[in-house]
Amino acid sequence: MREERFDHLKFHTRLILWYNSHSRSLPWRKTNDPYKIWISEIMLQQTTVQTVIPYYERWVEHFPNIGTLSRAPLQQVLKAWQGLGYYQRARNLHSAAKIIVNRYHSQIPKEYDDLIKLPGFGPYTSSAVLSIAYDKPCFVLDANVRRVGMRLIRLKEKATSKTDAATKKLLNAYIPLKKIRTFNQAMMELGALVCRPRNPSCLLCPVTEFCRAFESGEQEIIPSPRKREYKKIETVIAIIKKGERYLIQRRPSRGLLAGLWEFPGGKKKPGESLEEALHREIQEELGTDITEVCFLTQVQHAYTHFQARLHAYSCLIKHEPQLDKQTFRWVTLRGMHQYPFPSGSAKIIKFLEKSL
Ligand code: SF4
Repeated sequence: MREERFDHLKFHTRLILWYNSHSRSLPWRKTNDPYKIWISEIMLQQTTVQTVIPYYERWVEHFPNIGTLSRAPLQQVLKAWQGLGYYQRARNLHSAAKIIVNRYHSQIPKEYDDLIKLPGFGPYTSSAVLSIAYDKPCFVLDANVRRVGMRLIRLKEKATSKTDAATKKLLNAYIPLKKIRTFNQAMMELGALVCRPRNPSCLLCPVTEFCRAFESGEQEIIPSPRKREYKKIETVIAIIKKGERYLIQRRPSRGLLAGLWEFPGGKKKPGESLEEALHREIQEELGTDITEVCFLTQVQHAYTHFQARLHAYSCLIKHEPQLDKQTFRWVTLRGMHQYPFPSGSAKIIKFLEKSL
C-alpha cells in the first residue's frame, strides 16, 4: 500500500459498501450483546463458521447470558462444547464468566487493560470484543485480516509474530475514526469470502486498486505457505463392559483435554504391539490384567499438533478393581451423552451405538 496514493476515505467507502451488500447473515452479527459477541469470537478461533453456527445457537439457548454461564457446572459447559475442540476455550469462558459476574457486575469490561487479564482474552479476543461490541478503536488481526493485510502491503514472508507486528503497524494507521466495528468485520469478511488463501477473487475485490500484491501478480504466494508437521500417535482403548454399562474415566484436570472423559487406555510405546500396549495401560490404570481381547474398530482424529489413531478393543478385566468414583464411572451408552468426551472417543461411542 503506497502511502503517497493511499486514499483512506475511498478505501473505507469501497470496503464498507461491499460489506453491506455481500456479507453473510450470521447469527452473531444480528446482535450487539457483548456476551454473545464474546462467545462467537471464542468459538470462531480455529473453527469454521459453518461448524460454529449450530454450536453458537445451542449455546445461547443453554446459557443466554453471562449469569447462566457462570452458574452452570463445568461439566455442562464442556458438554455444550463437545466436538468444537481446544477445550481450554470452554474452561476459560467459564472462569472468565465467574470473574465478570463477581468483579464487574456481569458487564464485560470496556477497557483493554481489564479485558486482557481475563482467562482466554488474548490481544485478538480483547480487540475483537472491544471493537465489535463497543465500537472501540482497536484493530483486529485474525488469520483472514492477516492475509488481506500482508497482500495489501505485499509482505512476502511467512506469517510470524514479526510480520504480524509490521502488518498491524501499517494497517493500524488506516482504522477509521467511526464505525470500527463494521470496518473490522468487513476486513475479516473480505479475507473469508474474496481474499481467500488460494485463488483469491481479485476481480471481485472492492479494494483491488489499493493492493500491491495484486499489482505485482504475487497475491497467490503471499503469505508464504507454512508447512504443518503433524506428529502421529497410536493409542489403544479398552471397551470394558459390565452388563449394559461401560467403564469410562476422567482425564486429569490439567493438560491436554483436561477434565474430559474417555475409555481406559493410552499411548502405544515404541517397540510394543498394540495388544501389549493395551495390557500394559490397563494394568497401569486399573491394576488388573485383561482377557478375551477382541479388536473392534479404529478411528482417527487430528488435534492441534498431532494426529491420533485410536484402536479400540473389547475385553474383560480379570479382577474388578476398587475404582475412585471421581475418576471412574460405569455408564450406559445412553448415559454417555451426559459426559463431555474428546472427538476421538465420541467417534468410538458412535461406533458402539451403531453396533448395538
Ligand atoms: Fe486480496 Fe486480491 Fe483484494 Fe488484494 S486484490 S486484497 S489479493 S482479493
